[in-house]
Amino acid sequence: MKIVRISTAEIRIPLRTPFKTALRTVDSVHDLLVRVETDTGAVGYGEAPPTAVITGDTLGSVRAAVEEFIAPALVGREVEDLDGTMNALARCLVKNTSAKAAVDMALYDLYAQSCGKPLYRVLGGARQQITTDLTISVNPVPEMVRDAREAVARGFSILKVKVGKEGMADVARLRAIREAVGPDVTLRVDANQGWTAKEAVRIITALEDAGVNPELVEQPVHAADLEGLAFVTGRVLTPILADESVFSPADAFALLQRHAADLINIKLMKTGGIWQALKICAAAEVYGVECMVGCMLESKIAVSAAAHLAAARSVVTKVDLDGPSLCKTDPYTGGPDYRGAVIRMNETPGLGITGVPGFEEEEQ
Ligand code: MG
Repeated sequence: MKIVRISTAEIRIPLRTPFKTALRTVDSVHDLLVRVETDTGAVGYGEAPPTAVITGDTLGSVRAAVEEFIAPALVGREVEDLDGTMNALARCLVKNTSAKAAVDMALYDLYAQSCGKPLYRVLGGARQQITTDLTISVNPVPEMVRDAREAVARGFSILKVKVGKEGMADVARLRAIREAVGPDVTLRVDANQGWTAKEAVRIITALEDAGVNPELVEQPVHAADLEGLAFVTGRVLTPILADESVFSPADAFALLQRHAADLINIKLMKTGGIWQALKICAAAEVYGVECMVGCMLESKIAVSAAAHLAAARSVVTKVDLDGPSLCKTDPYTGGPDYRGAVIRMNETPGLGITGVPGFEEEEQ
């Protein structure tokens, strides 16, 4: 199965409600899609969101990386030589992790198709379904309480609440949400780098004292502040999850060696795809650290690639793959089934996604 062409297209999908974090506000998914064609007629798909505030990648930079650097390096290579192809992908330009992730997942899609199995089974997994949380955007308290109640009514028993913009006022915000949803709903708190290390210790201790009982607190401090992250991790009982602090396998090793966090959030757009993400899974497993698999604002192609990874590794004990649940429409056919909190894996070969709009006019 030889790669003959790599092309790109854009997709726009409106969100059910605007997505708001300490870093940004977005009202639609506007991503770059990648299609890898082979000489057998088999086609693989990938996707990358332009998450400039986190990865530095824009729609234009992702497209240029794919078209000008990655495609020339990979066309003519054999899909079955996954090791050679993935190393060529890693070497053809530095950084640009979103572009690499989009191509990596398309290659895994094709590789699994060539094996005749769904990707999670090719990766050695057997979990046919996984359960995701749902993100509650940072908003005035009554809106967040309403959104949290609605999410529970939609069947989500794990909520990821975005905070980090208002210091100690976040404690009252989270108390209100806890009171609204009751004690049985799991609350994950994501500060998106919004606090200093000392502020984080004060706020998390207050959450513990107030009985908010968060399952974990994600990325309390600035991405580069590994010392600050370790400071927080060592001073609170609530587990601390590293997100923006860990992009690459090398970042993961640095964090694991210092025990700077209790958990690692793996996202394909940070690692540059599944090939690199598997290295973080292996390293975390060695250190006895569990992982979450998360996503940016992605639609079903990229989220499904992450779901296949999550379903394949037992070190992944937490899933934050709510992208398709946040979208108003699903423009694709095939792939895993997203129904409320449950993601049921496809048993069709590859990622399983077949109908992808946007590429038609390029076909001759
Ligand atoms: Mg996060």
